[in-house]
Amino acid sequence: MREQQGLTLTRRHLLKGVVGGAAGVVLGASRVSAAAAQAVSGSTSVQRLADDLFVLQFPGEANLVLQTSANGVVLVDGGSAKAADPLMKMIGDLSRGGQVQTLFNTHWHPEQTGLNEALGKAGKTIISHENTRLWLSTDITWSWNGQQFKRLPKVAQPNKTFYTTGKLDSGIRYGYIPDAAHTDGDMYVYFPTQNVLAVGDVLSNQGWPVVDWQTGGWIGGIAGAMQRLQALANDQTRIVPGRGPVMSLADLKVQATMYATIYDRLTTLLNKGRGPSEAVAAKPTKEFDAQMGNPDEFVRRAFESLWAYLSPDA
Ligand SMILES: [Zn+2]
Repeated sequence: MREQQGLTLTRRHLLKGVVGGAAGVVLGASRVSAAAAQAVSGSTSVQRLADDLFVLQFPGEANLVLQTSANGVVLVDGGSAKAADPLMKMIGDLSRGGQVQTLFNTHWHPEQTGLNEALGKAGKTIISHENTRLWLSTDITWSWNGQQFKRLPKVAQPNKTFYTTGKLDSGIRYGYIPDAAHTDGDMYVYFPTQNVLAVGDVLSNQGWPVVDWQTGGWIGGIAGAMQRLQALANDQTRIVPGRGPVMSLADLKVQATMYATIYDRLTTLLNKGRGPSEAVAAKPTKEFDAQMGNPDEFVRRAFESLWAYLSPDA
């Protein structure tokens, strides 16, 4: 999402992973080009999860997952448009000149869809849930801050959509996360050989998530998705969130408990007739704030999302 707080923290976590953290594999200089290795020590992070699978993070950007193969590159999310040039350069470095053949959009946000136009014009495959394509084909304004998003030109819209699940010839599986956690078009991509699960902004491991109720996300969906994702992972699965360091199933379970608690508290406040400002004042996330950061925007959006989903006049 859009907030840029905590970037330094993220980089530190990712770099720790690169240098030999539990989730990472040491990024040997012999395995990547000098340019890519230099980027690790500069403003961009590369974390290798397997010989052919990387998590990329550019400053202020969402996590991207890149898989290289003889048949080209598969990319989960494309960063924002302003990151396109350095991203394409890094993809070229990591894949030794390979080209992106398949791009997944885990949802419609600009931080996921910045490469769509270039790849669409090049005739590449862009996969998303059908709801994501629909959001990308319409103008959107966020009610809470007036931010506007222009629809993408047809060529930049996903050209291969699905409703439930799908599979690439290479064995990569993907599917809908129908809880509407972050948006109503959320999807996962699972790499079975590497046991890596990418879930976009359904999970955040760096600060509170944005609850985009304008396009269908809600706090009950976050709580539900935390349960659903556990069925897709095992103890060895590396789970790549939209923001922050790679997670384990144990990490996911901690978040599942946290969001279930918050959901309960917010619905209790709603049932007592409270409003968003009163929900913020009630500090329903207080024991989690030291780790997750200032919760006010999150709590306000989460509470508003209950109105969208649960109010009788919604
Ligand atoms: Zn997002």
